[in-house]
Amino acid sequence: ARGAILVTGGAGYIGSHTCKQLAMAGYLPVAFDNLARGHRSAVRWGPLVEGDIRDVAALEGAIRRYRPDAICHIAALAYVGESVADPAAYYSNNVLGTLSVLDAARRTGIDRLVFSSSCATYGEPDVLPVPEGAEQRPISPYGRSKLMGEQIIRDYAHAYDSRYVILRYFNACGCDPAGEIGEWHSHETHLVPRVLMAAHGILASIEIYGDDHATPDGTCVRDYIHVTDLARAHGLALEHLARGGENLALNLGTGQGLSVQQILDAAARQTGNPVPSTIQPRRQGDPPILYADPSLARRTLGFTTQHSDIDTILGTALAELASRQPKSIVQAT
Ligand code: UDP
Repeated sequence: ARGAILVTGGAGYIGSHTCKQLAMAGYLPVAFDNLARGHRSAVRWGPLVEGDIRDVAALEGAIRRYRPDAICHIAALAYVGESVADPAAYYSNNVLGTLSVLDAARRTGIDRLVFSSSCATYGEPDVLPVPEGAEQRPISPYGRSKLMGEQIIRDYAHAYDSRYVILRYFNACGCDPAGEIGEWHSHETHLVPRVLMAAHGILASIEIYGDDHATPDGTCVRDYIHVTDLARAHGLALEHLARGGENLALNLGTGQGLSVQQILDAAARQTGNPVPSTIQPRRQGDPPILYADPSLARRTLGFTTQHSDIDTILGTALAELASRQPKSIVQAT
């Protein structure tokens, strides 16, 4: 068996899927989570330490107890719209939180970090598909908080000889294909689960945030990647660091852009139901088009996506939704 890995945000959506993948790769994932948005029941592959990432002493306690080889720092607030309305919460959790994780790591001699960053750090890029070397000009407090996290990590690595892999997630979606965990957001704002809820009458309709963007069909284009693929990349990043690999910042995406309208069409096809929709104003902080050049992650980690075709994404998300709301979903395909 491999060693322990401290996974901040291990009770959340991406964190819990990452814990499962790490456990399958032979690690002991130790989830560190304040359960503000995560769920105790999503922690199934190792212990849960309940604590806030801004509490350096609590982090140090968890590290001294479980002696992890490395940290996956996933805990964060991650809604673009909410970050515009409440930047204080975002800078506190995401920037102070990251600083605190780095300080706890430094004090305990943990020198390997995998950090969850975001395509939101690119803002509205000049080049598409966006390569890692593109200028990062985020257009939301969320994106800025993640960019600040990246910058702090680089400065710490340079000064204190620590090592990192920064993972810039594109749009995480889908659920564990085995259905053991899912996307359990209390107020769901993400496109994929909302579209499926609208297809099954759990929502009356889906709001499309703008049909007048500078895109082929006027709706926003994103790069949707299955959460199990994202999760697996963390294991590859940890192996890279364990081998003494260089510091990296990597896009995690498929390289394919899909529009909001294309997601609605795919959901209608897959469920056999129409997806009622209304056109709403654009959402603040939303870039019109964002999709990844994923080639660097392939070259450095050997990472390719395996579950990220849209039918698998929708199918796994729908199966998981059906397991929670069986009465609403009568004709899951
Ligand atoms: N979106 C939408 N209606 C919704 C939710 C999202 O039109 O109910 C759009 C949103 O404007 C963005 C894309 O879908 O272009 C993905 O949004 P999501 O919130 O899922 O992820 P984000 O890109 O904000 O991380």
